[in-house]
Amino acid sequence: MTSPAKIPPATLAKLAKLGIHHRADLLLHLPLRYEDETHLTPIDTVQAGETVQVQGIVTHSEVAFRPRRTLVCRMEDDGGELYLRFLNFYPSQQKQLAVGKQIRAVGEVRMGYYGLEMVHPKCRAVDEQTPLQQSLTPVYPTTAGLSQTILRKLINNALEALPLSDTLPQALLDKFELANFSDSIRLLHNPTPDISASALEGRSHTAWRRIKFDELLAQQLSMRVHHRERGKRLAPALSAHGKLAGQLTEALPFALTRAQQRTYAEISHDLAQPHPMQRLLLGDVGSGKTIVAALAALQAIESGYQVALMAPTEILAEQHYLKLRDWLEPLGIAPVWLSGSLKKKGKQLASEKIASGETLLAIGTHALFQGSVEFHKLGLAIVDEQHKFGVQQRLALRNKGKVEKSVRPEFVEGQVFAEGVVRQAHHERPEESIEFKSHEPHQLMMSATPIPRTLAMSYYADLDVSVIDELPPGRTPVVTKLVGDARRDEVFERVRAACLAGQQAYWVCPLIDESETLQLQTALETFEILTQTFTELRVGLVHGKLDNAEKARVMAAFKAGELQLLVATTVIEVGVDVPNASLMVIDHAERMGLAQLHQLRGRVGRGAAQSMCVLLYQQPLSELARARLKIIYESNDGFAIAQQDLQLRGPGELLGARQSGVAMLRFADIGADEDLLVYARQAADELLRDFPEAAQAHLLRWMANKQDYMHV
Ligand code: ADP
Ligand code: MG
Repeated sequence: MTSPAKIPPATLAKLAKLGIHHRADLLLHLPLRYEDETHLTPIDTVQAGETVQVQGIVTHSEVAFRPRRTLVCRMEDDGGELYLRFLNFYPSQQKQLAVGKQIRAVGEVRMGYYGLEMVHPKCRAVDEQTPLQQSLTPVYPTTAGLSQTILRKLINNALEALPLSDTLPQALLDKFELANFSDSIRLLHNPTPDISASALEGRSHTAWRRIKFDELLAQQLSMRVHHRERGKRLAPALSAHGKLAGQLTEALPFALTRAQQRTYAEISHDLAQPHPMQRLLLGDVGSGKTIVAALAALQAIESGYQVALMAPTEILAEQHYLKLRDWLEPLGIAPVWLSGSLKKKGKQLASEKIASGETLLAIGTHALFQGSVEFHKLGLAIVDEQHKFGVQQRLALRNKGKVEKSVRPEFVEGQVFAEGVVRQAHHERPEESIEFKSHEPHQLMMSATPIPRTLAMSYYADLDVSVIDELPPGRTPVVTKLVGDARRDEVFERVRAACLAGQQAYWVCPLIDESETLQLQTALETFEILTQTFTELRVGLVHGKLDNAEKARVMAAFKAGELQLLVATTVIEVGVDVPNASLMVIDHAERMGLAQLHQLRGRVGRGAAQSMCVLLYQQPLSELARARLKIIYESNDGFAIAQQDLQLRGPGELLGARQSGVAMLRFADIGADEDLLVYARQAADELLRDFPEAAQAHLLRWMANKQDYMHV
């Protein structure tokens, strides 16, 4: 089988499921692990937990019902006996495992009902002459119906047929002490006899290092290419001089922190360029990102462009709306509110104001970039809590600013384009120039998900990042308490006392990941219990299934102090700002992610009063849960928390692909391979500068399938 045409369509479909679309992709489909079938282990030396290959005679074979239909066999070698169990089996297997047959079995041994056993081992009939494998057997990630044997065959064919030439110049390999590509890739697919499983397991073998380096390098290259492309795209240069921004800062009751000033200056500089800004404003909960966003918005507005500010939830979007209205109305700017909860009429009215350009600032949820909303002249799109949005939504917003055929002449004339070509085209061939004038808005993304530096370097290399690394002065850090469920009554008393003393409290309901219905039910039950417990308090409930008007009503009542205790699901995770709330209880804290706990905790400690966050956990705690709660207990610094979480859990969970908008790494591990990432960044710069063709070849090998990724 040498050409892909000979692979049956059913197999092709399964390969596609694994992300294998071209034969070259087979090369990079690397083993998950290896099975060692190079020697036999005497049964009497086998220990539970080991994966071994044993050989012996079947001495017993029966179909038992305990409780399910199970094939149970016993095999013996010279020294010992071992049971094999199969829950699903074919008659052919039963025949193969009949009493008296000689077999070889590979699998993990564990202590079972009958003694040492293997469940669903890989078995085959052998005789005394059957040779052992010469080298480790690779085990590939696969999907139902695609056997290891077929995968292995396809991969080995590809290894023979395809060129494995190195994409990287020798000088670079020497510099970073990297093994060559073809040796590495061959070794990982077919380890030589001298290599043991343990040498490959930790993935620190030079062959693995080369592959991981290549993967990281491809990611860095593609991001840089993307960055360059962005430099060629056009955006309006928002070069207003900051009159409005000056007026706003003067009117504020506080002075900007140094970090706010610095990040605002970075954003301001980018906005004045004729190329789209794509900047991420990172800052811990409460670090004051909103005011920086407001100042950026004013720069766009003063330059004659519209601004859209989008938040992931109604609650948060509405808070932004109210806050920005307070700030901007004195400057003569009336923001417009647009969300899914608006009645049809209201939506239409808002859309009209946006389309006519009457409105300069539109604030809302993702309703803002739905098809029916047309901006007159969008210059800046601000996305709060951007990690809550998918890539598609981000793209949709970017496209909102595109001016296609109906470009307004004053827009083109008024701006200084860095690309001389565009101007020329415009003057010489006015008819054809229209598509060149298509521009897109600048983008400012905000996130309080603190991302460790290494992760930001990897995942956000396509964005410019500004970090607000200090909190406004005068905040008293939140005191965190870990309390076991057995002391729930004490927690009740604390809540009661705080509320009766005039403070307000949140009670965050347990997170039920598997089912929204259960989640809702739990919230309702918690509310019921707490209403009965605190008969003397005014208790409210807010959860994701509440309709938007109701949600807004409850939040307003809590904000106004009419409600003393707010029972809430994690809908309050982002952005809720009620300074008088100084106590938060998080029920079943062990179920939540660390970043989520940190975000939730950030809802208190916003006023002058000493605040407290009680993490109520269910006993007993697993080792990992204990370690994680300890981190949140000991640190108030979102970045430190994220860094430690990364070490505990790995980046996959910290930043899902959806969150980062970037394909996850398959082989490299940002936590463990930080040194390789640093090399890859350096190498990416060198390649693009000195060996652009090598860079191209490298991208082709690694990214052929990831066109979307390169364009996001
Ligand atoms: P986040 O970064 O979490 O979005 P916000 O923008 O909501 O934070 O700001 C949190 C609170 O801090 C708000 O009430 C805001 O008005 C206030 N704030 C922002 N900047 C400052 C500052 N420099 N000094 C004092 N208070 C500030
Ligand atoms: Mg915020």
